[in-house]
Amino acid sequence: MSFDATSTNADYAAGYVAKGMSMGGRWVAAQDGKTFDVHNPATGKVWSSVPDAGRVDAAAAIAAAAAAQPAWAAMAFDKRAVLMNRVAEVLERRKDDFIKALTSECGGWVRKSMFEINYAPTVYRAAAAAAYSPMGETLPSEHGKLSMVERTPLGVVSVISPWNVPLLLSSRGIGVAIAMGNCVVLKPSEETPVTGGLMLAEVFEEAGVPAGVLNVVTCSRDRVSEVGDELVVNPLVKAISFTGSTAVGKHIAMTAGGLLKKACVELGGKDSLIVLDDADMDRAIRTARFGAFFHQGQICMSTEKILVDRKLEDEFMSRFIAATKELKVGDPTQMDNQIGPIINQKQVEAVEARLAQAISDGATLHHGGTRDGLYFNPTVITGVTPDMAMFHEETFGPVANIMFFENEAEALSLANNCDYGLSASVITRDEARGLRVARQIEFGMAHVNDATIYDEPTIPFGGVKNSGMGRHGGKASIDAFTQTRWLTVERGGRNTPF
Ligand code: NAD
Repeated sequence: MSFDATSTNADYAAGYVAKGMSMGGRWVAAQDGKTFDVHNPATGKVWSSVPDAGRVDAAAAIAAAAAAQPAWAAMAFDKRAVLMNRVAEVLERRKDDFIKALTSECGGWVRKSMFEINYAPTVYRAAAAAAYSPMGETLPSEHGKLSMVERTPLGVVSVISPWNVPLLLSSRGIGVAIAMGNCVVLKPSEETPVTGGLMLAEVFEEAGVPAGVLNVVTCSRDRVSEVGDELVVNPLVKAISFTGSTAVGKHIAMTAGGLLKKACVELGGKDSLIVLDDADMDRAIRTARFGAFFHQGQICMSTEKILVDRKLEDEFMSRFIAATKELKVGDPTQMDNQIGPIINQKQVEAVEARLAQAISDGATLHHGGTRDGLYFNPTVITGVTPDMAMFHEETFGPVANIMFFENEAEALSLANNCDYGLSASVITRDEARGLRVARQIEFGMAHVNDATIYDEPTIPFGGVKNSGMGRHGGKASIDAFTQTRWLTVERGGRNTPF
């Protein structure tokens, strides 16, 4: 297969003709010419074919980033900020392309694609703003020295992103890192190499960002371990931003740690939404349904445990099941189908197996539980207990797992009996009570009276326990993608002992 560097891709829904991978401002094939196919989960059809990079290609992309980095870091911060704002403008101009491509490549409901392309420009605007932040401080000195702390770019940063929210999560990794003067090698997921990578490279090119600042390598699952290793161990790489599963994230963090490289890893979740006895029931049903079923439950912040005060059991169950029945499953390009396909066969079988195990362990199925190909019907279960796998393991599918508690202490125990700690919610009419309960949940992010799925570009996004290490967003990204240096100037105040 050859790539078409002049491709204009008139109809992104019909398919995407790749120009190649982006390295040092050139569109290139894999050095051994390998490619792999990308499927549209909604139709099962091949949607694109992209280069299947090997280790040498990853090394070449890293070398291109390293070559471009000194000039990029030397560019005045405000000029870098202008270019980040231009990236935002190009994304906005190409909104329709992205909506079609996102829906086709990752099978997301069209309104999820709209949300994603509306959010992505704000990530680059926040990155532009971050470039204006103070980049250090002056410290008092016991000896009257000029004593300064500076933050400087790291050099080359590798960004590895997942398939579920590809444009947004790639952008979150690259935006501030680039605005700070680093150059990036981005490796999107093999499920979403186009919207998570190649289209972003097009946008950067169109925005006039210099060649080599953003480089994109795409590879299949067969070659991801060699490419992934190179993106961590190559001596030119100084930091890694990873978003994905806990198993892979731990491997990356351990490898990076062994080499004393920075790693910011955002991983899986098993998030709880706690409905207290004084909750506004409309809000409770709405946030629980959105949290459990948005994007078929394939969000790291999906509500995987809905914890409801026992006093509300009957009303919550009848209303939640009725609300679940309202959801339409089908072609995700249609506005009124909120539930589209699961990303692939392996994942739909994993969801099915997790549910079957829960039922055989004693859980009760109230609704759903069936599927048509990759389309898994929204499912409601109760009766899950802490001795079951369903209680602890991430499902990453449209399964609402409802449990009941007798008091706040039990609610907290059910939420905190968890190896993950990403996001959590408390629904209550009493804000002070909500904050008090939220503060006791062992999670990186918690919300009173909103869903567990919530993010903004300026917040320190991330989790504790198996949900990750480090934070992305706003000031946290500045810390993650710069290094600290202490500089002093002696002015005659300090005597040396000899
Ligand atoms: P994944 O770990 O399978 O893949 C993530 C990325 O890692 C992909 O680009 C993949 O190609 C790459 N990868 C796989 N093996 C690798 C290796 N050996 N070396 C280097 N890279 C490798 O995860 P996924 O299936 O794409 O995403 C789903 C998971 O991501 C879920 O667990 C979800 O909770 C998590 N997630 C977390 C966040 C967050 O911000 N915390 C956001 C989205 C998704």
